[in-house]
Amino acid sequence: MTSNAQRFTVGLTGGIGSGKTTVANLFGELGASLVDTDAIAHELTVPGGLAIDAIRERFGAGFIDASGAMDRARMRSHVFGNAGARHELEAILHPLIRSQTARAAEAATGAYIIFVVPLLVESGTWVGRTSRVLVVDCEEEVQIGRVMRRNGLQRHEVEAIMAAQASRFARLAVADDVIENNDGNAALPPLVQALHARYLALADAAG
Ligand code: ATP
Repeated sequence: MTSNAQRFTVGLTGGIGSGKTTVANLFGELGASLVDTDAIAHELTVPGGLAIDAIRERFGAGFIDASGAMDRARMRSHVFGNAGARHELEAILHPLIRSQTARAAEAATGAYIIFVVPLLVESGTWVGRTSRVLVVDCEEEVQIGRVMRRNGLQRHEVEAIMAAQASRFARLAVADDVIENNDGNAALPPLVQALHARYLALADAAG
């Protein structure tokens, strides 16, 4: 990310269903450049994706489905509880995620960049690499309700996903800025507008 070394950047994170995508899109509408690391990771394993050849070579053609995409269900069950296989998959994906993220950042034309990183706290490699960390936070009950509704999951399934993620406390501990997203959607735009104005001023000062 050399040419972006001086650019003002924000790492946006939050737990499952906290509202990261909703908040990021509002920043995008105001003119921030969005770089979504989950979307970048997903792109690597679609047909023709940059990770497909390496996955076929390492894991075998059985892990590539008829469309040419990685067989997600098969890979998920293969790496579940198999740390060696999971590390091998990560060794393929992580460098590509890093390079594609850097490329997207270099191509960004907005006044500043928002990296959407669901596992920013968990990954360890992101903390300290952006000018600021913005956490989208909400009450756990609100989070559970949203994900149950959106994904048609049972409460215990959502709780299991949340238990595997960083705690709300750990996330808030690294936050420079926090957007509380407990209320309806109408509450968000003024919060985002205020932070956007602040980020523009900081980007100006940094540039
Ligand atoms: P994930 O980590 O699962 O991708 P996310 O943090 O990106 O989730 P969103 O997809 O933005 O979260 O929001 C989760 C769900 O909650 C969506 O269905 C979204 O429409 C809804 N939602 C988000 N914020 C609010 C809000 N303030 N009021 C009502 N619904 C909301």
